[in-house]
Amino acid sequence: MYILVIGTGYVGLVTGACFAEMGHHVICLDIDQAKIDALNNGHIPIYEPGLEDIVRRNRQAGRLSFTTQYPSKISVCFIAVPTPSKEDGSCDLQYVMAATREIGRHMTGHCLIVLKSTVPVGTADAVRAALVTNHPFDVVSNPEFLKEGAAVADCMKPDRIILGVDNPQAAEMMKELYAPFTLNHDRMLVMDNRSAEMTKYAANAMLATRISFMNEIAGLCEHLGANINQVRIGIGSDHRIGYQFLYAGVGYGGSCFPKDIHALTAMAKAAGYEAPLLTAVDTINERQKKLLAKKMKKYFGALEDKTIAIWGLAFKPDTDDIREAPALQLIQELLDHGADVRLYDPVALTKAQNLLSHPSITWCSSEYEAAQGADAIALVTEWKQFRFVDFEQVLAGMDGKAFFDGRNQYKPREMKSRGFDYFCIGIPDQTV
Ligand code: NAD
Repeated sequence: MYILVIGTGYVGLVTGACFAEMGHHVICLDIDQAKIDALNNGHIPIYEPGLEDIVRRNRQAGRLSFTTQYPSKISVCFIAVPTPSKEDGSCDLQYVMAATREIGRHMTGHCLIVLKSTVPVGTADAVRAALVTNHPFDVVSNPEFLKEGAAVADCMKPDRIILGVDNPQAAEMMKELYAPFTLNHDRMLVMDNRSAEMTKYAANAMLATRISFMNEIAGLCEHLGANINQVRIGIGSDHRIGYQFLYAGVGYGGSCFPKDIHALTAMAKAAGYEAPLLTAVDTINERQKKLLAKKMKKYFGALEDKTIAIWGLAFKPDTDDIREAPALQLIQELLDHGADVRLYDPVALTKAQNLLSHPSITWCSSEYEAAQGADAIALVTEWKQFRFVDFEQVLAGMDGKAFFDGRNQYKPREMKSRGFDYFCIGIPDQTV
């Protein structure tokens, strides 16, 4: 028996590779011919630490293959296709339904259909209703919790595996598939489909809420003379709160949090239920993404003809994913105000170059090159290599001396003593 993974993106490729690493035979299928050709030529279309190794190893072992064609016999299908936002914020299920139709067309016997994409509550029922086939099948909700940048590690050692089912046999089949991942201790949580679907949205909403909460408190700190870094330690030490996800910054981005908050809000609206907390989380995040540009306008007066270096374009470190990245909004705003931008990211440059084109953009190959001739630097993605920088060299190459730290990576007093006019998030400028 082999596993068919439909959709070979961040989730599908990692899932397929990790199942193959555990000894399963896996076929990864995608409608994107160029992506499949690249994979068949040994190229990994995304940056994900550790992924290239396990893909190469398992292809060589004959356990992992890539195709655009459905095989003649299918029995276990993971659906890992995109679930983007529609105009109104609700989840667009067209790719999930397209995959469902194809599965229905290619079934020759019992099929276990596993929904790994993040899908609205009720989607498993909708998939059951949409399947046109005489063959028996089960639909399992198995939302994915991997983090880009640590996806392989998360997939190989998941905190938990959520299995939403409508019968015990489906749960048993899933437990067998996942058994190699849970030898150390059982991490499988079996529940009904709707609860499994909601668990994924609730997890992302909780994490996004923590970020927006800290950004709200950071704004208050700036207005009231407190220091968010000290407040973070102060509240994180309470074991009921903990230190995770308590960092103020330029807001969350990526392909999941923004769209999942919007989808959950849309689900609430469709159900006639008011969800003011979710709306506030999103509103705070939108405000936060504008904060660095606002601070720059205050510092410079006008941004026209100013040159701003941007360190980090990916929505977070260790990924090349720039979907909904806060840097994109900042760049757009700077360009709209007549600034020149010098952009650098350790791995996301190619993806950014495919998306952005403007005569006022200069692409740079290091943080030092980006800083050359800049009036200000904005740190937007906290890549580890930015932790220890030769600031003497950086400052010597700049035209100005402003540093806008969107991730609170540096100590305000140290940056000031190095000669920067330093601004960060949640610390009033006068205490710098
Ligand atoms: P992605 O855009 O990286 O990859 C999706 C792939 O599916 C693409 O290669 C696309 O060509 C392919 N595809 C689209 N329609 C198809 C079809 N009908 N048949 C076959 N292939 C098709 O997306 P992703 O980031 O991997 O996300 C996939 C799902 O997983 C989404 O629902 C997302 O919310 C969820 N998720 C993502 C993450 C993450 O960190 N990226 C984490 C957890 C859950």
